[in-house]
Amino acid sequence: MNFLLGGWMTKGKLFRALLLTLFLTFLLSLSSSSALGEAKVKYVFLFIGDGMGEGQRALAHAFYGKLVMNDLPVQGFITTQPLGGRITDSAASATALATGKKVLNGFLSVDSSDFSKLTTLAEVFKARGIGVGIVTNTPIDDATPAAFYSHQRSRLSYYEISLDMIRSGFDYFAGGSPLGNHERYRKRRPDILSLAKANGYRVVRDKVEAESLKAGAGKVMIFDQGAALYYEIDRPKDTLSLADLTRKAIELLYGPHGFFIMVEGGKIDWACHANDALTAIAEVKALDEAVEEALEFLRKHPEETLIVVTADHECGGMRVDLSGERFRLLKHQTMSYARFNRELSKGGDIVGLVKRAFGLNLTESEIKTLGDEVGSLALKLIRILNERAGINWGTRGHTDAPVPISAIGVGAQIFSGFYDNTEVPMRIIRIVGLTF
Ligand SMILES: [Zn+2]
Repeated sequence: MNFLLGGWMTKGKLFRALLLTLFLTFLLSLSSSSALGEAKVKYVFLFIGDGMGEGQRALAHAFYGKLVMNDLPVQGFITTQPLGGRITDSAASATALATGKKVLNGFLSVDSSDFSKLTTLAEVFKARGIGVGIVTNTPIDDATPAAFYSHQRSRLSYYEISLDMIRSGFDYFAGGSPLGNHERYRKRRPDILSLAKANGYRVVRDKVEAESLKAGAGKVMIFDQGAALYYEIDRPKDTLSLADLTRKAIELLYGPHGFFIMVEGGKIDWACHANDALTAIAEVKALDEAVEEALEFLRKHPEETLIVVTADHECGGMRVDLSGERFRLLKHQTMSYARFNRELSKGGDIVGLVKRAFGLNLTESEIKTLGDEVGSLALKLIRILNERAGINWGTRGHTDAPVPISAIGVGAQIFSGFYDNTEVPMRIIRIVGLTF
């Protein structure tokens, strides 16, 4: 009897406990659903290293002692194949990262079969009144940035892409000047920068004016260095870096409605196409310094910020043997293959130039056997340096190697694992509590 009574009392307590639990669960579900529904994450950063695979990140980490992107608490990998193929270009992969949809190479946020527009992450944010910034160190109408604001069947339709940029109404564009404004693509049609001004953009062409911009400056475009920023290894100190452009984006877009900032490190890819290892990892470092700007913001707004760092694809099939420390030979290189070519075309002491540029002690006759053709000599010298430094390249093109993805901030844990690049914008939009 006592046992039964006790049993009853326990059951009564259990019942009350159950009710309490249900009530608490209900309260908890209310608070978590409102957190999603009312967009607890207000500030979203998406960093894309063009061509930045595991090898590029590992070598940069070893050479510079540390990359903050490699230290982020959440790490994973994404696959990058385009529709109907294995090796992607930047248009198809940026479309996947921007819209969550697979397209054929060359397509920019347009369906490959019915040519319908694919809504981008940036457009979803813009439609909700959230500030949008697009930052790159390559031309602003190049494939990766373009996939976030443009809808074209060809990534080469630069003039039309530039018009889409103006039409987007996004708040902040910074990087290389639009290629669409070159006569080759413009074909006597109206000047892109004049059209931008007529549509309410302040177009800034120099560093001092860019740095003087303050919150409330309105819609801004910053193009201070021609069609692309300098390679970081060659960049004069009086020009703006990718980190500078990122810091300015944060300053101008910060506000109660939140922001979405996409930053592309676009020249990692260019250097990898030339198999120029030091130039490539200096570009990784430049992107990492931009990530550092976002991390500084996150430290001030830890409950409202998400940072995601990934790549569109790998380039070069780079593999490095870090065990023998031979990669440290790269420290004797002082300029990119591109600047070497510029210096070479000026003429003069070729033995001295080869030593100064790549740290290679070659005699004039040894250099002569390589040929002195501008362009090909640099590639041959770089091949010698790669062999000595233990850096192997499989190709001068893109590969289908999965690329790292790293994240920190609110909801960041769902970026761990191994999945497809189309999942990236889907996961971002889910954390923010919006839909495409
Ligand atoms: Zn490429």
